[in-house]
Amino acid sequence: MSTGASRRQSSTEIALFDAGREFEAASAELEAAALRVLRSGRYILGSEVAAFEREVAHYLGATDAVGVASGTDAIELGLRAVGIGSGDRVLTSPLTFFATASAILATGAQPVFADVTPDTLTLDPDGTREVLAGDGRIRAMIPVHLYGQPADMEPLIQAANDHGVTVIEDVAQAFGARYAGSSAGTLGDAGAFSFFPTKNLGGFGDGGLVATHREDIAERVRALRAHGATAKYHHAVIGRNSRLDELQAAMLRARLRHVDALLARRNELAERYDAALVGSEVVSPARAAGRTHTFHLYVIRVEGARDELRARLREAGIHTAIHYEVPLHLQEALSGLNYREGDFPVAERASKEILSLPLFPSMRESEVDRVAELVWEASD
Ligand SMILES: *Cc1c(COP(=O)(O)O)cnc(C)c1O
Repeated sequence: MSTGASRRQSSTEIALFDAGREFEAASAELEAAALRVLRSGRYILGSEVAAFEREVAHYLGATDAVGVASGTDAIELGLRAVGIGSGDRVLTSPLTFFATASAILATGAQPVFADVTPDTLTLDPDGTREVLAGDGRIRAMIPVHLYGQPADMEPLIQAANDHGVTVIEDVAQAFGARYAGSSAGTLGDAGAFSFFPTKNLGGFGDGGLVATHREDIAERVRALRAHGATAKYHHAVIGRNSRLDELQAAMLRARLRHVDALLARRNELAERYDAALVGSEVVSPARAAGRTHTFHLYVIRVEGARDELRARLREAGIHTAIHYEVPLHLQEALSGLNYREGDFPVAERASKEILSLPLFPSMRESEVDRVAELVWEASD
């Protein structure tokens, strides 16, 4: 096929996230950062990772931050740093990416779920409190700040405190979001961030970070990410190799300088969608009072004909996704946990109605308008 044809095709297609366009929008700065590292001869745990950790801690208002190899590792090492392991149970939401559960399982602990609220689709504080009260083996809780909006942290932390449970926030989707004035990821004992390319602060490969105000947690994650070493070749505990690369850190530092503008742009596009979809058959995402939404994803609700709408959009070249089609308690890999359909009706119903529309900072207004127009047409 000629390049002309493929260019024509790509101009009518709208990606869910366009990584190439995101890079182009800041390529000079990013290339300079990458070259600086390549020429430095220092690629593992050097000055870039240290500087990035300081800058992220400062941005979030956390005491410390420790870069690791991925968001999944950030959750796992955060849990291990507070002593979670075999025989323990960890409560989380059934409506999240599978990594939240696999990180729990990697520590040797078992995931336990509570249902979500129908508006924000984050852990329901009342349901969470009930599950905590009924299971004395739960030692940690992982609220997931889904789609870029924080969970209702105040009552969740209150419930956790009442039951002596540690709170590790899954902030993979919500870098820069705020709850009652504080950054998501600084409200619990620790926050686990991801720099997967599509996330709010997206890198150019895998990367993650644990932010915390607890020095003991920071110190333990620092040891765990480097084979448990507290000094070179002195291993206090059994850790792993889970380091954030210098190359990623340097490029993320460049991204971090513009993250407020990137988040503002996500919000602007989300508001444009909201306005364009008023009066249509679909429901725009809920925004809870006292929390900012960073719109990692713009997720609408479609009662009834979600899959038909998705197919019609796909025919028109619009890429969408479902985050997530199968709630964790119904995943085949987790069938050993013995949950059944009907256990978490709010999450189950949401999984049948949600649809993520394209949204990324370099998306054009005209593209948002086109997607919205097609949503109207398809659901008429
Ligand atoms: C992306 C994501 C993760 C995992 O992050 P990785 O960096 O891909 O390992 C965990 N939880 C949620 C909710 C995520 O969206």
